Amino acid sequence: MDYDEFADNILSYVKKLPADKRVSEEEYQRRLSLCRECESLRSGMCLKCGCYVELRAAKTGSRCPDVNKKW
Ligand code: SF4
Repeated sequence: MDYDEFADNILSYVKKLPADKRVSEEEYQRRLSLCRECESLRSGMCLKCGCYVELRAAKTGSRCPDVNKKW
């Protein structure tokens, strides 16, 4: 699987999250914007927890894993 296919799979998964498990688009973009500025982000993965931030940021109840939570 190449990167584009992988990214498409993540987006597809996010879109299939039930509405009550998914944050608003505004909150999703706010979280991703904070991740993009974070020194712990590498190729879409958070080095604090090993997750893909595009998945983690989409879910209600998810938090940034940093000690100093950014979102
Ligand atoms: S989830 Fe938190 S620690 Fe991880 S990349 Fe995003 S802002 Fe940084």
